[in-house]
Amino acid sequence: MLYNSTRGGENGLRASEAILKGLASDGGLFMPEKLPVLTKSLSELSTLSYQDLAYEIMKEFFTDFTEEELRHCICAAYDEKFEDPKIAPLVKKGGAWYLELFHGKTIAFKDMALSILPHLMVTSARKNQVTDRIVILTATSGDTGKAAMAGFADVPGTEIIVFYPYGGVSRFQELQMRTEPGKNTHAAAIRGNFDDAQTGVKQIFHDPAFAQKLKAQGVVLSSANSINIGRLVPQVVYYVYAYGQMLQAGDVAEGEKIDVCVPTGNFGNILAAYLAKHMGVPIEKLICASNENKVLTDFFGTGEYNRNRPFILTSSPSMDILISSNLERLIYLSTGCNSAKTAQLMEDLRTKGVYEVSEDMRQFMADFVGGFAEEPEVFKTIRDLKEEAGYVLDPHTAVASAVYKQYAEKTGDTRKTVVASTASPYKFAPNVMKALGYDVEHQDVFEVIDQLSEISGVPEPRAIREVRNAAIRHSEVCEISEMKKMVEDFLFV
Ligand SMILES: *Cc1c(COP(=O)(O)O)cnc(C)c1O
Repeated sequence: MLYNSTRGGENGLRASEAILKGLASDGGLFMPEKLPVLTKSLSELSTLSYQDLAYEIMKEFFTDFTEEELRHCICAAYDEKFEDPKIAPLVKKGGAWYLELFHGKTIAFKDMALSILPHLMVTSARKNQVTDRIVILTATSGDTGKAAMAGFADVPGTEIIVFYPYGGVSRFQELQMRTEPGKNTHAAAIRGNFDDAQTGVKQIFHDPAFAQKLKAQGVVLSSANSINIGRLVPQVVYYVYAYGQMLQAGDVAEGEKIDVCVPTGNFGNILAAYLAKHMGVPIEKLICASNENKVLTDFFGTGEYNRNRPFILTSSPSMDILISSNLERLIYLSTGCNSAKTAQLMEDLRTKGVYEVSEDMRQFMADFVGGFAEEPEVFKTIRDLKEEAGYVLDPHTAVASAVYKQYAEKTGDTRKTVVASTASPYKFAPNVMKALGYDVEHQDVFEVIDQLSEISGVPEPRAIREVRNAAIRHSEVCEISEMKKMVEDFLFV
């Protein structure tokens, strides 16, 4: 299996090369030249452990890894770091199936991919005789940062630098990043929003002179952002696993179609669901849920992607995104893998902030349905499900839950639906408690967490205990224009 850039400038890379590079040199994203399909039946796959299933899926994409290499990566990633032995358990609550992707180190779904990416990278480096220090550079709207820091922490031969928007992540997310103890981890707040951070990181990647300068000092940059194919592929696994759990529980008959609903930001998670569908999981609709930053809802409704709009801070900060990078992969597929056309649309986005897709492309994407929920509806959803089923959602998952409900009511679609549950309510305790009707203004975040623990009946996850008493280790703040210098300071001083 070889990988091509969505923009046509870099083709025919092996998986390990694509994983090492992250972003293609033309600014495009790597895509497999052909999408694989499942080689075993779903009922057969449904009996496998998460780890064995992960191997079955990943071997179809990462064909230049040996079985031993791939299984080693999988075992190093999906071990006791996850508090639930099922890794991604599925629970039925209030008429939907919640796929809990938050039992890893940082209690959010980014752990699913970021716990394996460092191992895939180190293995890829070894396979390609790379001896340089691999420096991971990433922009985060909150969850990626700590998940990447935790994933790469003290992995030999790697270094990780995270930029996050100053004041644009939750107090708890900020504490998680700033207390990360890994010796090779660095974090800086930038004075700007997430898109500024992401644009800044992309500019550093696009700077050949800077790359040369680093190379001379034995450093190569790579990305842990969700654009890395080494993050996308591991996310396909849990959608197959979810269907397998429904089969095992007798909730669906083999082949019975389901819908999935995904709280979406950068479009990585839902794209993984699309790939799972392509591989043969009977998924009908892919419901793309947004908060008030509803670029994607508008896009699926009209065919026009328009980022020229105010950026709104919400209680689901990991979805406060106006440029969903991974959408480029769907655009590419919808053009019949026409890289010139894809590059043109991405250039329109860069220069004008807007592009429009053709009727054919819209037809291709007809399985996607966009929807959005505003803050009061999100809070009401949290309250309602707690009352109805005793189950507490985090605000991101609540966006999806609300959008799923709107969709089902509007269309009369009665297919069983898997809602991707992307964060533990503990990670966003203040807003969750507010949604449940408690006045937690001015309270310390850990007091609020204690209250949540009392009323939810769900024991406090290990990740909370770890942050509670840890020392602050990262305090840098910089301007957008200083990001490159910050990288050098982190690496060479
Ligand atoms: C990152 C994140 C999302 C968005 O996922 P994408 O793959 O970027 O679409 C949703 N919820 C949470 C909690 C996240 O951390």
